[in-house]
Amino acid sequence: AATATLALALTACGGEGAGSGSGGGSEAGDQSIGVSMPTQTSERWIADGNSVKEQLEDEGYQVELQYANDDIPTQSQQVDQMITQGVDALIIAAIDGTALSSQLQAAADADIPVISYDRLIRDTENVDFYVSFDNFKVGEAQGNALLTGLGLKTADGGEGDATGPFNIELFAGSLDDNNAFFFFDGAMSVLKPFIDDGTLIVKSGQTAIEQAATLRWQQETAQKRMEDLLTSNYNDGTRVDGVLSPYDGLSRGIITALQNAGYGPTTDGGAQPMPIVTGQDAEIASVKLIDDGVQHSTIFKDTRLLAEQAVVAAKAFLEGKEPEANDTKTYDNGVKVVPSYLLPVETVYKDNIQSALIETDYWTAEEVESGQ
Ligand code: BGC
Repeated sequence: AATATLALALTACGGEGAGSGSGGGSEAGDQSIGVSMPTQTSERWIADGNSVKEQLEDEGYQVELQYANDDIPTQSQQVDQMITQGVDALIIAAIDGTALSSQLQAAADADIPVISYDRLIRDTENVDFYVSFDNFKVGEAQGNALLTGLGLKTADGGEGDATGPFNIELFAGSLDDNNAFFFFDGAMSVLKPFIDDGTLIVKSGQTAIEQAATLRWQQETAQKRMEDLLTSNYNDGTRVDGVLSPYDGLSRGIITALQNAGYGPTTDGGAQPMPIVTGQDAEIASVKLIDDGVQHSTIFKDTRLLAEQAVVAAKAFLEGKEPEANDTKTYDNGVKVVPSYLLPVETVYKDNIQSALIETDYWTAEEVESGQ
């Protein structure tokens, strides 16, 4: 629904189509752009891929869109192939932020501008621009959502009624994804004072990102780790009250583990209430869980707007200009600070599904109702 609506909006605005410009070989219709996405197992990347493709095509570019099944050699090969085919620009959401160096060298040698999409490409000078969301703020928002859910903070950031202590566990994303560190650091910047003064207790003691990490953001891996955490730390009747999860897919794995251990899904009937579980991406299955009161929150990142920024940046490069950055100091990739355009994010709870997701045409009410 999301992409369809935007495409309509763009058409209505009379976006320039192929051949609408004048001039010779460098007009959009002759140019092609390679778009490399990590995986189709998470719906956000499908939405990203579709939005980028549609919006580039509306600008008159040809598009080569590939997904790499979360497999690094596959992504390297796909990018190699795009360069060999002679694309004029590359938009890449990397699986492993450090694994594409030789491809990017080849791109630089062929004067192909490279836009790092959502995830920062690291350890190379051959990345020209970064479009993403404010990833540290995503983490802060996740930390704050956990605190609000537990009653330690109010929605407007004030002090909550609850006093704790509460038992929580922490999950992080994939360590080969630069974003995982920003999310975790952002969340910990909010949670650490509460951990330090004993209001929050991480019963497993696993507070380092290396301990909390989830390779390739896999739902099953998170489920397994949650099961292990419950067995090792909570089989004496102690209850886990909250779980920091950085991504909806992981949240669903965590929730399954909790449900299998007798938590939730509702607070009535004497069942153990479901712990406060956070998330990210507003995936439809999780939006339904939030609507049903099972998952507490998610972070909405409007992939249509990110796609739009990627298109704006690609267009600028292909017209011989520099894209406009709104952040030029945060994203040091180990070799250089990559000029970035960062978008804002919004926390979604049951209360604002309607205004944040339905009224913006990201999901329809029917999709939220059915969870698909
Ligand atoms: C993205 C998140 C996503 C995660 C797993 C991160 O790089 O920024 O939006 O949840 O990857 O796909």
